[in-house]
Amino acid sequence: MASEIDVVPAIPTRKDEAIGRLQQMVSQGLGWARKYSLFQYPFVTACCGMEYMTLAAARYDLDRFGAALPRFSPRQADLLMVVGTVNCKQAPVLRRVWEQIAEPKWVVAFGVCASSGGFYDNYATVQGIDQIIPVDVYVPGCPPRPEQVLDGIMLLQKKIQGQTHRLVEPAPAPAIVAPGTR
Ligand code: SF4
Repeated sequence: MASEIDVVPAIPTRKDEAIGRLQQMVSQGLGWARKYSLFQYPFVTACCGMEYMTLAAARYDLDRFGAALPRFSPRQADLLMVVGTVNCKQAPVLRRVWEQIAEPKWVVAFGVCASSGGFYDNYATVQGIDQIIPVDVYVPGCPPRPEQVLDGIMLLQKKIQGQTHRLVEPAPAPAIVAPGTR
């Protein structure tokens, strides 16, 4: 049986409210900065790579969204773009790259192969990268049109803005690794 003290509602003081509001403003500011300064790590394995290159060219100009500059070190990136088919031999490598990206980080599955294995329904192909790493946005298409990818980037930016951001991120919980992925 719950004691009387358990059901007394917590009454926030004015100081609590002020701190909460300040944290909210910091979170919104960091969210705004982060969504317009995405540094992507392209994990490109297959034919979707052609569409990926188109994105950065003049016609689609991904730079308008603050996400054009690819970084080829996971330690300098915060957006993992998985572009193309991922086979079972590549799975541990993809997992390792994801682990090396510092928090906060996001993942986009570019095309149906990365999202679900696509039409490679066989023993050698990973049936969606979400079996290995968490995914924030799935972009459909084989290959996806650049407009679809831009739509996915905008969706991700909206998601980032809605998340809670802190000046110092807490240490992540230890990852649960599926057997055979290391
Ligand atoms: S989704 Fe289509 S274009 Fe992209 S890697 Fe798979 S087969 Fe190639």
